[in-house]
Amino acid sequence: MKASVVEGYPQGNKMKVLIEDTDASQVNALRRAIMSDVPKMAISKVMFTLGVNQDNNHDEIFESVNALPDEVIAHRLAMIPIPTQPDEGMAFPDECESCMDLAEEDVGCPTCQVLYTLNVQGPSADSDEPFRVVRAGDLTNVSDPLFDISEDMQSIPITYLAQGQFLEFIAFATLGRGRDHAKWSAASAVTFQPCYEAELKKPKKASVLFDLNLKTSDGRPIDAKLFTSKKCSDISTVLDLEKALHQVGHGTGRDADFDDAIVLTKVDGSFVFSYETDGSLAPEAVFNMAIEELKSRFTNLGEDLDRAFA
Ligand SMILES: [Zn+2]
Repeated sequence: MKASVVEGYPQGNKMKVLIEDTDASQVNALRRAIMSDVPKMAISKVMFTLGVNQDNNHDEIFESVNALPDEVIAHRLAMIPIPTQPDEGMAFPDECESCMDLAEEDVGCPTCQVLYTLNVQGPSADSDEPFRVVRAGDLTNVSDPLFDISEDMQSIPITYLAQGQFLEFIAFATLGRGRDHAKWSAASAVTFQPCYEAELKKPKKASVLFDLNLKTSDGRPIDAKLFTSKKCSDISTVLDLEKALHQVGHGTGRDADFDDAIVLTKVDGSFVFSYETDGSLAPEAVFNMAIEELKSRFTNLGEDLDRAFA
């Protein structure tokens, strides 16, 4: 198996990788490893403060009620991308050396959890604002600054607070795997497709497509210039061509005139692999961690087999 990043990627958290010398089952194993095995951080426990607060300056009463049930807020918190630092030595709570022998309610130390607090009040009674939006940026990280919510994610809304309402809680983020809950899934939209090469078989008839004035995703016109000696193997361009061919395919009324003027041929053993992380981890890190997961799994399998046949 040979992997190389497709030119122009990563785009933000989006990634495309060309995987060669392999087959669909291996690529699918990689896909499953990314979705369910690569560990990442997510908020997994929230302790809400319930009650009534009195504002000292204004003599105003604030109550711990708001538009959303606690469960929904906890779920929304779980979905906020928590920066995961694979090299910082964070441990899974059930594998943490300081905590593994403790009773469940005592589990949790700086090695296996990151703490965030939030304390936000709605607008005061004399304010013109009818409500205040609580956002991911309102979370205060009380652990290592490495785990501060990244700037891109700070605008994620959590809930509204109206006048006289407050929201206060402590949230605990832990390392987990997507197989246990989607909040720990390192990437979404993990897909792959065969890698194609395009061939311009009938340049004259291909004008049916070229005359539609379509553009590639990076803004080049879709025309004969995309082909060198009638072939095109640049991956991003072929993906754009594949999309464009839908405009002249079956059911468009143009397929007879087009007459398969451009043909896509599968490249044996090659796949284009795509996914997008939520920002907790860099896309390259997710890929490398998935490979490590697979490697360790197959080593273990080898050892198990040795024992089974001994
Ligand atoms: Zn611990």
